[in-house]
Amino acid sequence: MSIKPFVPQLVYIEPRALEYPLGAMLKDKFENMGLEIRQTTSHNQVRNIPGKNDFQKYRNAKSTLVVGVRKTLKFDTSKPSAEYAIPLATGCMGHCQYCYLQTTMGSKPYIRTYVNTDEIFDSAQKYMEERAPEHTRFEAACTSDIVGIDHLTHSLKKAIEFFGKSDYGKLRFVTKYHHVDHLLDADHQGKTRFRFSINADYVIKNFEHGTSALEDRIGAAAKVAQAGYPLGFIVAPIYLHEGWKEGYENMFRLLDKTLPSEARDDITFELIQHRFTKPAKRVIQKNYPMTKLELNEEARKYKWGKYGIGKYVYQNEEQEDIKATLSANIEQYFPEAKIEYFT
Ligand code: SF4
Repeated sequence: MSIKPFVPQLVYIEPRALEYPLGAMLKDKFENMGLEIRQTTSHNQVRNIPGKNDFQKYRNAKSTLVVGVRKTLKFDTSKPSAEYAIPLATGCMGHCQYCYLQTTMGSKPYIRTYVNTDEIFDSAQKYMEERAPEHTRFEAACTSDIVGIDHLTHSLKKAIEFFGKSDYGKLRFVTKYHHVDHLLDADHQGKTRFRFSINADYVIKNFEHGTSALEDRIGAAAKVAQAGYPLGFIVAPIYLHEGWKEGYENMFRLLDKTLPSEARDDITFELIQHRFTKPAKRVIQKNYPMTKLELNEEARKYKWGKYGIGKYVYQNEEQEDIKATLSANIEQYFPEAKIEYFT
């Protein structure tokens, strides 16, 4: 059975959010849906997420939505896939055990959506003007799975249309959700690359709880392709498990069977092997104590990283095997696609 679109269990609304049309609309909408709504003066007050212990609080936070105003209109950089991260939301309701948000969001795992979208777009406009006539790419999924919550807010849809009208802007994002129907008629003008995160069925079933099944993601990709969006896939994290070669080939075969032929000439693939850091391992084991995820430093290769936090990747021969296997699959099923990188 397909996963249902996300509905928060608890909603916090910052008073300033009600000064914006989207904030007022969301308040009405959530009241009509019969959701529990609490007023708050700032998002720091939201720390009082219900729950008897950290474990419960973490789970409750992931079904809590905060409707707020984005104060910092300075965008983070988002290399290498884009110049800037456009902040439409933070946090995610998914339970992917290797999610990077577990370490980056730390004590604030709730979802926060920003209602001052016009101010955010004004800021994007300035970044584009600075770089014109070069194109500027914006990534909308750096701090959340934006598609997974957009059926409630439609702010991503607005962003797609905003960049559709722009002269020098491009938008991209990635999702593990299939709730894309409201985005199909957005006037994207080919300026948004709609990417799906896909993986072998075993990996999705064991480590990506609360996200859409592989067939649903691929079904959604077919709809998006039919709507004329440039399409992309991030195969991540590529995880070695028993039968992995077959698992990944099945994934490509399903993709090949489902994608319409007209979508084939402009597809990108990004390939990212599984990696972890020591701090991430600690957080994963705290949030998902029963995890089957293999996090054994001894079996991995250590790669020096920024701020002295190195990461554990696969051994060289394993990396070569992954790269060769998946590249051969792509060559066979999608000869016209472009592999952007393997990392
Ligand atoms: Fe994290 Fe993406 Fe999974 Fe959400 S869907 S928990 S953002 S990896």
